[in-house]
Amino acid sequence: MSKNIAIIGAGITGLSSAYFIKKQHPECSVTIYESSNRAGGKIQTYRKDGYTIELGPESYLGRKQIMTDIAIDIGLGDELVTNQTGQSYIYAKNKLYPIPGGSILGIPTDIKPFLKTKLISPLGKLRAGKDLFKPSIEIENDISVGKFFRERLGDEILENLIEPLMGGIYGTNIDDLSLMSTFPEFKQREEEFGSLIKGMRYEKEQRQKQRQLYPGSPKGQFKQFRHGLNSFIENLTDYVTKQGVEIKYNTPISEIRKKQKSYELINDDSNIYRHDGLLITTPHETFTKWFEKDPAFNYFKSMDSTSVATVVLAFDQHNIENIYDGTGFVIARTSNTDITACTWTTKKWPFTTPDGKVLIRAYIGKPGDTVVQDHTDEEIVSIVRKDLSQMMKFKGDPDFSIVNRLPKSMPQYKVGHIDKIKSIQAHVRETYPRLRITGASFEAVGLPDCIRQGKDAVDELIDELEL
Ligand SMILES: Cc1cc2nc3c(=O)[nH]c(=O)nc-3n(C[C@H](O)[C@H](O)[C@H](O)COP(=O)(O)OP(=O)(O)OC[C@H]3O[C@@H](n4cnc5c(N)ncnc54)[C@H](O)[C@@H]3O)c2cc1C
Repeated sequence: MSKNIAIIGAGITGLSSAYFIKKQHPECSVTIYESSNRAGGKIQTYRKDGYTIELGPESYLGRKQIMTDIAIDIGLGDELVTNQTGQSYIYAKNKLYPIPGGSILGIPTDIKPFLKTKLISPLGKLRAGKDLFKPSIEIENDISVGKFFRERLGDEILENLIEPLMGGIYGTNIDDLSLMSTFPEFKQREEEFGSLIKGMRYEKEQRQKQRQLYPGSPKGQFKQFRHGLNSFIENLTDYVTKQGVEIKYNTPISEIRKKQKSYELINDDSNIYRHDGLLITTPHETFTKWFEKDPAFNYFKSMDSTSVATVVLAFDQHNIENIYDGTGFVIARTSNTDITACTWTTKKWPFTTPDGKVLIRAYIGKPGDTVVQDHTDEEIVSIVRKDLSQMMKFKGDPDFSIVNRLPKSMPQYKVGHIDKIKSIQAHVRETYPRLRITGASFEAVGLPDCIRQGKDAVDELIDELEL
């Protein structure tokens, strides 16, 4: 007999999970419950007067193939776009410095550009060189990203190069951020080569070889769609709906009940929906309430998420002067700014902006601060403009600006995170048959990672439902 599965949340994790269920079992009935009036969750593209503006995530890492594979399958193969490459910068010590060529997330692999950069002092460079002779760092299960790189390469490189590049991805203080949950490959390479620099040099050579297999392919690492990330969501929604998936919008689930052979979902209007299997893909702040009585979920109560906002400024090109030729910059936390990064979107993604205009996108909000909560949109725009005026010159007002608040949107993966997650997942498997929970609060936050986690959860669920 065909089974019916509920998915809670129509973000990228929930939607792609529905896609995978239908691919394997078209006969299976699937309903997605979504609290808001739209699909996509954090993904939100704003289209206006020739602009294509991302208000949440901006793009995805192209080498994580799973998202591209789905895109092609749902008819978006011709819409794929790769970012324009160009110089990226780091704002530190009140100045923009080019990121030294050849570095991988701040770890030097080429000696020449590293020796030439003024971002790191001669002493800092000397200290980084110690990495070549240092034995592997012994760790029990995990170590913070900060501690690992401070020990290998020194404080100066960590604070001025690595932290601005890595910290922003996870919205977590670098000295709390779990290495093994975020960048375990660095530890692997360090152990393999006895040096991080040597390991990363090898990594770079591998990537170069890979590129040589596809001569003429674009150099950029990131992918997008000609009409924005939302076209992925729109096409995926169309695809799954045509396969019979029902999406119930404006249906916030407030409680779930485990029955002998099914799960009951209760929404705010006290409607009860009964399903054989259940997949939860909401942020942990939501689902933790449904497992209030289960101490195994206590970890999620202490797991914080950082609130950020993306701030978009659209200028007429005559109203802005940018002497830097590049795609954007990240900011060292030692700098005195509220923004953490800025993309010169017009340069990185030319399709996003009409001729004669300039689009800039900044991120504001750091772990532990309340700048996003404490200010109105107008105040946030003015803070962002003040910060940006240290790096570029405004000659007039923007044509328009948008502030998109994303409260508690970046789950903080602190030291020990992945072990806790593994044990919670094992507990869920044992205690809640035919139920899985996944999404950005679990193993990784990137869009293709969310898709991959959705696929893994679906595979397990299908197995258990004996489909
Ligand atoms: C500012 C920012 C920039 C980012 N940039 C990038 C980037 O450039 N590239 C990249 O790869 N990743 C990026 N990320 C990460 C990525 O966007 C997220 O990890 C990913 O979108 C999470 O998807 P999800 O489906 O797991 O969760 P969500 O997108 O949060 O979706 C969860 C869904 O559940 C719904 N929901 C919540 N509660 C209920 C309820 N009670 N009942 C029913 N439905 C409910 C929500 O409305 C939502 O639609 C960024 C994240 C942020 C915050």
